[in-house]
Amino acid sequence: MKDSRWIDATMRTTQRYAGAEPPNRWVPVLGRPAGGQDGPDERDAMPDEDARITDADRDRLRDAIVVSARARARGNHPFGAVLVDPAGTVVLEAENTVVTDTDCTGHAETNLVRLAWRTIGPAALPGYSLYTSCEPCAMCSGAIYWSGIGRVVFAMTEGRLAAITGSSPENPTMALPSRVVLASGQREIAVRGPALSEEAAAIHDGFWR
Ligand SMILES: [Zn+2]
Repeated sequence: MKDSRWIDATMRTTQRYAGAEPPNRWVPVLGRPAGGQDGPDERDAMPDEDARITDADRDRLRDAIVVSARARARGNHPFGAVLVDPAGTVVLEAENTVVTDTDCTGHAETNLVRLAWRTIGPAALPGYSLYTSCEPCAMCSGAIYWSGIGRVVFAMTEGRLAAITGSSPENPTMALPSRVVLASGQREIAVRGPALSEEAAAIHDGFWR
């Protein structure tokens, strides 16, 4: 039985997206034309959120992109995330570790959530922001939700990533915007992105195919 708070949250989500494109357009992967010819720009429906993302946000996103490059250099998938405290200081960072840990859940954001929960604790995390080189997938968005981290800023969208990874069996990218996942809960979590999409995507050059 769903209680009224759940229903209210669901209604808010439904109303938010009723009749309007989600902020970063949801393009079902299975609905892509044969051959996956969608161009990155076409799949990146929303331009960079320049008005809502500060220069400090961009600096932290670049930190996450640097971590994504390091993940690639270590033999993992090129994704990275950093956690920033209320004063704007990077306090934790995490790379993708899917290959080296033989762990399909070793996404950068989920790794960061595990680390944050252990080292900072849930009481303080609503004041922290998670910056990531790519929009969190449904699993990572769920992990962020359960962590209580209060704000997410991402570089390129999941749709942009799907255009890059194509049908790669190593990364069958999902098509579920993090905003939709995070707006479905009972906590308010701010989501900002995309921004610096080109810089984030560059780390993936030649990696997936
Ligand atoms: Zn993920």
